[in-house]
Amino acid sequence: MKKVFALFSAALVSALCLASCGGTDSTSSSSESSAQESSASTSSAESSATESSSEEASEGSTDAAAEFTTVTEGVLTMATNAEFPPYEYYEGDTIVGIDAEVAQLIADELGLTLEITDVAFDSIVPGVQSGKYDMGMAGMTIDEDRLKSVNFSTPYATGIQAVIVTEDSDIASIDDLTGKKIGVQTSTTGDIYASEDYGMENVVQYDNGALAVEGLKSGKVDCVIIDNEPAKAYVAANEGLKLLETEYAVEDYAICFSKENAALQEAVNSVLEDLIADGSVQEIVDKYITAE
Ligand code: GLN
Repeated sequence: MKKVFALFSAALVSALCLASCGGTDSTSSSSESSAQESSASTSSAESSATESSSEEASEGSTDAAAEFTTVTEGVLTMATNAEFPPYEYYEGDTIVGIDAEVAQLIADELGLTLEITDVAFDSIVPGVQSGKYDMGMAGMTIDEDRLKSVNFSTPYATGIQAVIVTEDSDIASIDDLTGKKIGVQTSTTGDIYASEDYGMENVVQYDNGALAVEGLKSGKVDCVIIDNEPAKAYVAANEGLKLLETEYAVEDYAICFSKENAALQEAVNSVLEDLIADGSVQEIVDKYITAE
């Protein structure tokens, strides 16, 4: 059931990729970024992907990239929820992770300074929708409901909804979840799917994944449904927990934008698609996620 949308979006990525990855180089970020950044402290802006020397972004199909605006001139304001390792988490006072690094590359290519704001996960979409933040990047799944409020970029990673149980659990597979108490992080796709599939009365919402895992350890819930990578981190950090082998759902992560700022979305997409095509995104993912 959940896989249908994921498959659909995977097909969309391929289609987008066919349309843009191999086509004419219309990266076009140099012209609009220089318009943007008159007073910005651009760091390493003009590196590899801005080699397109065209004056205007008129070539190809990415012409909308020409005139984007950001909340603060010269700054790309990204909202995230920095409790989602390895995509975003704190190292000291700094938010690091896959999303932080990919966003930094995007900002560099666009000639913008990246500013990451840490907010509750369920504040990201409303904040982006209302124009408080330029974009939301938080291991966020493309979801039909969210698409009513915001637009999404080209997907840049695959997410899996996984199930954490205690080592002595009688839950052996997804089929055993009926009637069990399921811990989730509020408003995540784990929450949305579990409420649909097993009934809201069986779902216990927590502010973040760490609290849901505490709930599992203290017996308040029988399992936690959460994205695979943080799930692995929680299992590694807590004795007596394990992951079910079966996947609950497979989905695509993407960056969300206000529907009012299609030009920024296009500009980011153009850069992001290049970063995917040249392997930069994969390089960052590989740095944080080692193959088992
Ligand atoms: N991928 C999940 C979602 O989009 C969880 C994201 C998160 O908790 N940061 O709902």
